[in-house]
Amino acid sequence: MQHLKYLGAYPSNLLDQVRAMIRDDRLGVYLEKKYPQRHAVQTDKALYQYTNDLRLQFLRGAPMIDKVLYDAKLDVLHNALGHHRAISRVHGNKITARKEIRIASLFKDTPREFLEMIVVHELAHLKESEHNKAFYRLCEHMQPGYAQIEFDLRLYLTHRDMLREREKTHAPNVPDADSHATQST
Ligand SMILES: [Zn+2]
Repeated sequence: MQHLKYLGAYPSNLLDQVRAMIRDDRLGVYLEKKYPQRHAVQTDKALYQYTNDLRLQFLRGAPMIDKVLYDAKLDVLHNALGHHRAISRVHGNKITARKEIRIASLFKDTPREFLEMIVVHELAHLKESEHNKAFYRLCEHMQPGYAQIEFDLRLYLTHRDMLREREKTHAPNVPDADSHATQST
């Protein structure tokens, strides 16, 4: 039985459905049909703007964010849902807390709903540090359908890993001379 590392928290009957989709190779088509649109948020500056706009729209009372950036070093499994932290710095005898949001770089290339989901998730942490009911209520408020989109993001990450595995196993068998003819990108 295939282990689904991004989906561990979901009920087993749902995971069986996912395994059936994987077996029939339907995962990619499902995701492409449901999430056909990319987004144009490609720089840290654009990401800051995007995040701050959402904050102003939904969380006027929340603290200012000092910095938002794409981080290539974030561990996808443990930090697929972004990374949030308040950094305390000492300036002279004053301690200032900086609000910084880091988003895994892979979100540069995802459908726009997944970037929105991850940013909404991180913004919700400005108000609720735990993943409790109030937290998810806030996420749903900022992005209707949040729970389904988070599930689909986990499908997306599963699919992405599978494609990479496939590439790894097939690549060495392709003779160099033929590689241009058989490459599918
Ligand atoms: Zn979280």
